[in-house]
Amino acid sequence: MTPSPSPLPSTTEAANPHYPHLFAPLDLGFTRIRNRVLMGSIHTGLEDRASDFPKLAAYFAERARGGVGLMVTGGFSPNLVGWLKPFGGKLSWPWEVRPHKFVTQAVHDNGSKICLQLLHAGRYAYHPFSVAPSKLKAPINPFTPRQLSARGVERQITAYADAARRAREAGYDGVEVMGSEGYFINEFTAPRTNKRTDAWGGTPEKRMRFAVEIVRRVREACGPDFIIIYRLSLLDLVEDGNQWEEIVAQAKAIEAAGATIINSGIGWHEARIPTIVTSVPRAAFVNVTAKLRPHVALPLIATNRINMPEVAERILADGIADMVSLARPLLADPDWANKSRAGKPNSINTCIACNQACLDHVFENKHASCLLNPRACAETELNYHKTFAPKRVAVVGAGPAGLACATVAAERGHRVTLFDASGEIGGQFNYAKKIPGKEEFHETLRYFTHKLEETGVEVKLGVLATAQDLSGFDEVVLATGILPRQVEFPGSDHAKVISYLDVLSGRVKVGGRAAIIGAGGIGFDVAEYLVHESPHSDQGSPTLDPARWMAEWGVDPTFEARGSLVPPRPEPPSREVWLLQRSPGKPGARLGKTSGWVHRATLKAKKVQMLGGVEYLGVDDAGLKVRIDGVEQALPVDHVVICAGQEPRRELQVELEAAGISPHLIGGADVAAELDAKRAIDQGSRLAAAL
Ligand code: FAD
Ligand code: NAP
Ligand code: SF4
Repeated sequence: MTPSPSPLPSTTEAANPHYPHLFAPLDLGFTRIRNRVLMGSIHTGLEDRASDFPKLAAYFAERARGGVGLMVTGGFSPNLVGWLKPFGGKLSWPWEVRPHKFVTQAVHDNGSKICLQLLHAGRYAYHPFSVAPSKLKAPINPFTPRQLSARGVERQITAYADAARRAREAGYDGVEVMGSEGYFINEFTAPRTNKRTDAWGGTPEKRMRFAVEIVRRVREACGPDFIIIYRLSLLDLVEDGNQWEEIVAQAKAIEAAGATIINSGIGWHEARIPTIVTSVPRAAFVNVTAKLRPHVALPLIATNRINMPEVAERILADGIADMVSLARPLLADPDWANKSRAGKPNSINTCIACNQACLDHVFENKHASCLLNPRACAETELNYHKTFAPKRVAVVGAGPAGLACATVAAERGHRVTLFDASGEIGGQFNYAKKIPGKEEFHETLRYFTHKLEETGVEVKLGVLATAQDLSGFDEVVLATGILPRQVEFPGSDHAKVISYLDVLSGRVKVGGRAAIIGAGGIGFDVAEYLVHESPHSDQGSPTLDPARWMAEWGVDPTFEARGSLVPPRPEPPSREVWLLQRSPGKPGARLGKTSGWVHRATLKAKKVQMLGGVEYLGVDDAGLKVRIDGVEQALPVDHVVICAGQEPRRELQVELEAAGISPHLIGGADVAAELDAKRAIDQGSRLAAAL
């Protein structure tokens, strides 16, 4: 069912001229949210220790100052068995209340409201005390949960109600009950994980009873003037997940039990369909929220891959939802809401959905941050204070490292000149943005273009800087990046051996069959480019078209099938590609924790042969000869693309030192091994903060 456009919410205040729906207040009867921007829950790692709460408070305060309407914390378990991991955040004892007051006070002082997320991990708990409706191990967790007795189920419900009461005591405006993503409550609602035959399982009504009881008891414990957001799994995206009529029935029952708002949950953590990485189209799943809209009266929140205000405004104006949830975009830019309200979307540092410094960090047991904004979760430690002694600073190289360094230094009051040999800013991001599924990288270049102008950096493009250009500056920063590594083997000088730069710059048109030497991040990206890019088609990447993307991954566009799964229909690859590495084992083991599996699955669907333990014997007119497991093979390829890592580009350093200038080195110019934009931007920003 297509929702009808929603009229502008009635309010006595003048509508925002740029995004009128996004900045209309939301009246919940007993309280009012100043706009429709919800900061969705994101686990930062700062929740796990009370001593980190002042940092957590500073992190939320910055986003409250940035204009967010309502925030949700990372997950806190209502009891010990629901811990995500040993000693994770929980709110089950009276003495755990006090540190939260730092957070609630900081948010309220800055005009926003905040709910605590109650997250019981169920069978996703990474410890041996985990519990679940049935004794079924999750495919992504080595621990098998204990099946709860009927009394045990009652005890969990009481724990939720007690934790919610404590949240209220701590000053929270409400709680978000996490009922999606395959966690505990979702495990009760889905036949996949609930095999019980007692009062808590066996029929759809009994499976949802646990969720409904929790909402009812939380409402009873906290009174009528307390926000209860219920995160309902609208798409499980797993076999034996919920079916649409069951989801609608759950939504109605949750509403009747006393929830204030329903948030959309998309995909279990064990689902093999990506839901948030950069190759997921923007707002890809909002149609499922739209499908629920006619069935309930309470406000709905749309979520996933909403990162710019025009996308958010469209969702609200089309009547799909009443609020939009942004989590990672507010790590990237804490001022997202204020900038949108002021009609300055160009000044937003847009989340590129890379997961590299947020979710990947959390999975590595580090605090979350942001690739684009190293201050995220470091608000008390990394600050860009105004300088009292402005200097003349030259930055050579306008890749991510140089851009971050130049703009932070200029923001602090230094007089900065930025040189780049190329005619455009961005360095290697100009190649990254051409990869199908990495279209968001354009946004970073748009942001820095604006930021350079705003901070008054003098930009000299098309200038290959020399030591002479750099005399007279107080500080010289070399952000000159890298040169692709040259590799030597018989035939490596053959015409069919080319570099990834030849491919991505369009200098060489690659034939129908290609081998890629080197299966790091760039090798994988080049493979994606080669299997998608077709000289005969200009239809672009499926990332830009939700319908094509859903067909590729097997998401039912009607959302009616159980779990919303249908057989995937990947588009045929435009080339035959081999992706090779010398190291034994499967290529891609070192890719990001939360995105690597998506790259591997995409290439598998495109029939790319990913081979490890490869010895390169030589290239000739017939193709590439390799030896694998002692067996020689000839790959009949038209081109061999070298993606074998990089070396620092430092010829200018020698020249400068000869002229008596000691430069600072950042990004690839400093260390090329394991370089990524996260390190480049972090290093550039930290150097500029210290100049
Ligand atoms: P560069 O980006 O290499 O920039 C160096 C700049 O210096 C260039 O613009 C160059 O023209 C200029 N320069 C050099 N010498 C001079 C001189 N003498 N005078 C003037 N200018 C000079 N990283 C990630 O984190 N995530 C990703 O998903 C990702 N995907 C990628 C995909 C591809 C296809 C590629 C190629 C890279 C990708 N990267 C990714 C890597 C990331 O782009 C690099 O780590 C990052 O660009 C390094 O930044 P840098 O500033 O050190 O150097
Ligand atoms: P990389 O990750 O270091 O990979 C280099 C590849 O080349 C490896 O597979 C390596 O494997 C192979 N290799 C190295 N020396 C070789 C030689 N002499 N001969 C043949 N093969 C050789 O480097 P990259 O792919 O160039 O990526 C650069 C950086 O950009 C990475 O650190 C990455 O973090 C970043 N990046 C990230 C992403 C992302 O999505 N997060 C995407 C692109 C790039 P063997 O030694 O086993 O052959
Ligand atoms: Fe977004 Fe990447 Fe920053 Fe995470 S690290 S918030 S995904 S830009």
